[in-house]
Amino acid sequence: MKKHLNLLKKAAALSLSLSLLLSFPAMAAWENEHLGPGAAQWIEEQTPEGNASHQPAPDAESHFDVPEDHSVTYIDGQPVSLTNPDGTTEAISLTPQAPPAETAGEPSTPPATETAPAEDPNIVTSGGRQLDLRKPMIALTYDDGPYAPVGNKIMDVLEQFNGRATFFMVGDRVRNYATEVKRMVSNGHEVANHTYNHKYLNKLDAASIRSQVEQCNQVIQEVTGVRPSLMRLPGGNQNATVRQNIGMPIILWNIDTRDWATKNAQKTIDAVLGKVKDGDIVLMHELYSSTADATATFVPQLAAQGFQFVTVSELAQFKGKALTANQVYYSIR
Ligand SMILES: [Zn+2]
Repeated sequence: MKKHLNLLKKAAALSLSLSLLLSFPAMAAWENEHLGPGAAQWIEEQTPEGNASHQPAPDAESHFDVPEDHSVTYIDGQPVSLTNPDGTTEAISLTPQAPPAETAGEPSTPPATETAPAEDPNIVTSGGRQLDLRKPMIALTYDDGPYAPVGNKIMDVLEQFNGRATFFMVGDRVRNYATEVKRMVSNGHEVANHTYNHKYLNKLDAASIRSQVEQCNQVIQEVTGVRPSLMRLPGGNQNATVRQNIGMPIILWNIDTRDWATKNAQKTIDAVLGKVKDGDIVLMHELYSSTADATATFVPQLAAQGFQFVTVSELAQFKGKALTANQVYYSIR
């Protein structure tokens, strides 16, 4: 009975966080996103009733004074707009030099133009959440799945902290975990290629290498509608023939947790905490519950230190690096 109650609570919490996540993109949008984060323009849209929360600011976020009779709208704990007594709204900028629109007791100065939105080129929207380009970003990667019992736990934890991961998957497992793999895509994680049968490609000829890559891309596309754009070599094993026949950027890693060998959550945590820095790519595996447990421990701690968890493609995008087919990458800075 108690267990059922806990499950119900968990389900309610998950559905709440999912609905918040899903409602977010409807409230605001980037225009000219293809021009890149620096050129994109933030468009404030009318906030639908009930979608944004009106709540007291956490102490750490109280960088501004709220005049009486005004209310502040928060998204993901960040104040985004100020509602005036007459119902009009103004965007809030958190840059230190930007003062509040009015101070209580002083006559208000109307804004120069009614339509000018507050722009902070350092805040970008990707994967259904906001990222701050000034804060460190790392790419957590999980190989050898999909495997729903572990992968769903990893996503549960990451999504609580606005994190996204990259899953390098073995093609012949994908149909068995179609629900989990669809969740990856719908929640902003990256689905990526780890061959069709986890073959060491340095032992294969060119045609077999190409077939391993293509079959995996096809099954992921068939299940999710998304064709992977990144490849990870099983075992990291490569040679010249491999590098000439992948046809996608080859993503290796610079932080190896060795989670597959130790199957020990604390050792996996120790490989990450205090070690990772901006631009790192962390290698883990989706097959072990110890890896999910480690993720549940280090993600909140790294988030508190300001780290943001991004997909490999996001890391490349926001570091301004175009990834090239058949090139090998260990980190992206
Ligand atoms: Zn592997």
